Amino acid sequence: MKEFDYIIVGAGLYGATFAYMAKKAGKRCLVIDKRQHLGGNLYCENIEGINVHKYGAHIFHTSNKKVWDFVNSIVEFNRYTNSPIANYNGKLYNLPFNMNTFHQMWGVNTPNEALAKIEEQKSAINSKMEAEGISKPRNLEEQALLLVGKDIYEKLIKGYTEKQWGRKCTDLPSFIIKRLPVRLVFDNNYFNDKYQGIPIGGYNKLIDGLLENIETSIGTDFFENRSHWESIASKIIFTGKIDEYYDYCFGELEYRTVRFEEQTLNTSNYQGNAVVNYTDSKTPYTRIIEHKHFEMFGEDIDKCPKTVISKEYSTEWKDGMEPYYPVNDEKNTMLYSKYKSLADKENNIIFGGRLAEYKYYDMAPIIEKIIKIFK
Ligand code: FAD
Repeated sequence: MKEFDYIIVGAGLYGATFAYMAKKAGKRCLVIDKRQHLGGNLYCENIEGINVHKYGAHIFHTSNKKVWDFVNSIVEFNRYTNSPIANYNGKLYNLPFNMNTFHQMWGVNTPNEALAKIEEQKSAINSKMEAEGISKPRNLEEQALLLVGKDIYEKLIKGYTEKQWGRKCTDLPSFIIKRLPVRLVFDNNYFNDKYQGIPIGGYNKLIDGLLENIETSIGTDFFENRSHWESIASKIIFTGKIDEYYDYCFGELEYRTVRFEEQTLNTSNYQGNAVVNYTDSKTPYTRIIEHKHFEMFGEDIDKCPKTVISKEYSTEWKDGMEPYYPVNDEKNTMLYSKYKSLADKENNIIFGGRLAEYKYYDMAPIIEKIIKIFK
């Protein structure tokens, strides 16, 4: 009999939720992580009384009541509602595109007026493309123009998307944008999900709750002592990079990453909102996050005299940087499928989470998946 049923490599949301469920099922688990903290990308550092999302802003959202009840059984969530603002050359617009945005953009007051304006702009593009003999959008720019027209595209989509991908919209494939929903109501709530919020006290509370009474070891890289970990457990749950697990035998999977420039400011309220997107092309960063607004509302904002902001710069990924977003193009999809075919032959290892499955996962689907595994 081995010392552990499971060695869980990675103390992110996947690893922590898996460990919680496994322990409940009577299994002996050890969770290891190469970072100096638990929580993976959900990790927050407390600065001046503010929980700062060190690996990018995280907002929990789901329509699945089981998932919502599960996370709330670990820690209660607050009523944060994501309603980002766009700043285009100093003029502010509400997001997602809704009646507030259309009023700010064109001065229209009713859904019919807004719809007429959008249709007028879309049909101008349609006629132009027809005249040029273009039957299908050839790139992201043409696709976006056909979906929402010139004003919204140029002021709210173009600059932001080009910074995010590091390429011109005319060089990006049209399939990246399938739909651009417009709302003909005055509703700035970004998500359509039934439930959303932030754990009261921050994400570390969620992770600590999941990992309560479970053995953990931080600053511990699986690959530095691989045979030891394999020898002491019946099964490995691996949430690190799948290409690294197989020693990059087919080549390296690519990512896009984000560089965060963090500042603590001597003001209680810098931008009045958690998320402000900079949608022009001259501002080098894509967003500014003001972390206190995720958890402080009303009078509490001024009771905390300082604030912490992070400017986000979307960057090409190189070795040594944090791998954030998988690049789901043909080349990387093919490469991943080769690693996946090796993984499918393994009996004593489960590959799970965003790095091992080379897949962008929101938090809620991760929990949904693990609930299903244990069912
Ligand atoms: P991770 O959190 O990356 O955990 C993997 C862990 O494995 C890491 O801690 C790593 O150190 C460890 N590890 C890797 N290799 C080894 C090794 N060799 N040995 C030991 N440990 C190892 N989702 C939402 O629902 N809402 C949001 O607003 C949202 N915002 C996001 C913003 C950004 C910038 C990013 C990148 C993602 C965002 N997500 C959001 C998605 C969310 O971060 C993921 O769903 C979640 O982090 C996935 O958890 P995970 O455990 O798979 O991965």
